[in-house]
Amino acid sequence: MLVGLVTNWWKDLKIKIRFDVPLDKYTTFKIGGPAKYFLEPKNTEELIRAVKLLKRYPPRAKGGKLPILILGSGSNILVMDKGIEAVVIHLNSAYFKKISLKKGQRLQVGSGARLSRILSFSRRHNLSGLEFLAGIPGTLGGAIMMNAGIPDKTIADRIENVTVMDYNGRIKTLAKKEIKFTYRSSNLSKYIILSATLKLSKDKNSVKEKIKYYLKKRYLTQDLMYPSAGCIFKNPPGESAGRLIDLCGLKGKRIHDACISKRHANFILNLGKARAKDVLRLIRLVKKKVKKKFHINLEPEIKIWK
Ligand SMILES: Cc1cc2nc3c(=O)[nH]c(=O)nc-3n(C[C@H](O)[C@H](O)[C@H](O)COP(=O)(O)OP(=O)(O)OC[C@H]3O[C@@H](n4cnc5c(N)ncnc54)[C@H](O)[C@@H]3O)c2cc1C
Repeated sequence: MLVGLVTNWWKDLKIKIRFDVPLDKYTTFKIGGPAKYFLEPKNTEELIRAVKLLKRYPPRAKGGKLPILILGSGSNILVMDKGIEAVVIHLNSAYFKKISLKKGQRLQVGSGARLSRILSFSRRHNLSGLEFLAGIPGTLGGAIMMNAGIPDKTIADRIENVTVMDYNGRIKTLAKKEIKFTYRSSNLSKYIILSATLKLSKDKNSVKEKIKYYLKKRYLTQDLMYPSAGCIFKNPPGESAGRLIDLCGLKGKRIHDACISKRHANFILNLGKARAKDVLRLIRLVKKKVKKKFHINLEPEIKIWK
């Protein structure tokens, strides 16, 4: 095992690394065991050094090389109870959260910036176009990776370009036309997203009103009383996963402290001490019932870290 060696290397390189960091604090589900290694680089230079080092001296465990996982605000992730044998990189420093105004109603935004902060910033500058993201608890990086949005709008609509780093530490800027965005997905998984340019439009009057409208809609339809990861499953083409789950009579179904929301059947709630294994049992149950009744395979929208 090269783990010890790598750890010392990091010490020499002065990159802050933590060991066995519980991830429940870093996910909106409030579920998950520890990450073996947890890195919070201060800036791009530190990130490059870390990535190059990991390439040269990949830490290993019984199963082979450890994966590198990028954590945003953990709002679309389910982490296993026993934790994960992985290097988790969290782009959480002020450097990765910068938001600045560019010419022509554009914003330059770091991937660690929360969507709520981007919205406040654009509202202050009377810039419109992202209001539909109001209430989505992610970062820009997670939103781009997941192509976050609502049924008729996604973040891709407002992207001009995305700056990424590959796992050799090389940085490049991809124009929107070079990226494939699909429903709750993008083809950027071989990269670390660093920042993006968003193209908005000037609107003096209604940005605040639009944000209010989308927030209200969300409060009326989603279940925000307990920790969750939002929608668990993708909607099948032309269908609503929530409707199918509801028709299977599963609203309110509970396994220990994991419970299918009575309000929005595509939400699984953590009522207190839910474990990942309880959530997984509910996921399996939903898939089985929906398959049996409708012959449809529901596909998870959330990422499962195991
Ligand atoms: C109450 C609630 C409501 C929600 N409503 C919606 C909704 O209406 N629409 C919607 O689309 N989603 C919704 N979500 C899901 C979630 O908020 C979004 O998918 C969000 O964009 C995820 O961002 P994140 O920063 O939390 O990413 P994370 O959950 O941390 O990560 C998600 C994925 O992105 C990757 N990733 C994150 N940052 C980076 C980066 N910088 N570089 C490379 N990869 C990265 C991770 O590795 C992971 O694969 C909701 C979630 C909750 C809890």
